[in-house]
Amino acid sequence: MVSEKLMEKLNEQMNFEFLSANYYLAMAAYASSLDLDGFENFFLVQAEEERFHAMKFYNYINEVDGRAKISSYTEPKNDFNSLEEAINTALEHEKIVTDRIYKLMDLAQEEKEYATISFLKWFVDEQIEEMGMFKKLLQNLKRVGASGNGLIMLDKELAQRTFTPPTDAEQQ
Ligand code: MG
Repeated sequence: MVSEKLMEKLNEQMNFEFLSANYYLAMAAYASSLDLDGFENFFLVQAEEERFHAMKFYNYINEVDGRAKISSYTEPKNDFNSLEEAINTALEHEKIVTDRIYKLMDLAQEEKEYATISFLKWFVDEQIEEMGMFKKLLQNLKRVGASGNGLIMLDKELAQRTFTPPTDAEQQ
């Protein structure tokens, strides 16, 4: 049985994932304002991923007979001084998400809530990927600099990113 406290924390994380989607949507809009369509696409795909994460929580909460409660969201950061600042903000945000997932896992383990532990494992793995992806992008951006051919090449590369939700088998 998922305790009331754990249910509350699962709800909080669902809402935090929805909030994350807004963070990346704001970054997509910023990239669009710089006419960097590839970066815009990259952030739009990331926003979709976050929505997918939120819906995983939503579905899990319902599966265990909980009640998903949608909260209001604080305004994300909309203005950035540079692309580097935006990506650095994304990386720092993902570190916070990882910390939150770990705290949720701590609570699930404390309560010996094995189903929730199993559910959260997917997010533990996912966070390694998310942080690695932003770290790599930040490094690449630093290498190519804020303008010129390198940036155009990187933008073209990011235009290729598509959202593919994992299959059921991969989600286990
Ligand atoms: Mg997420």
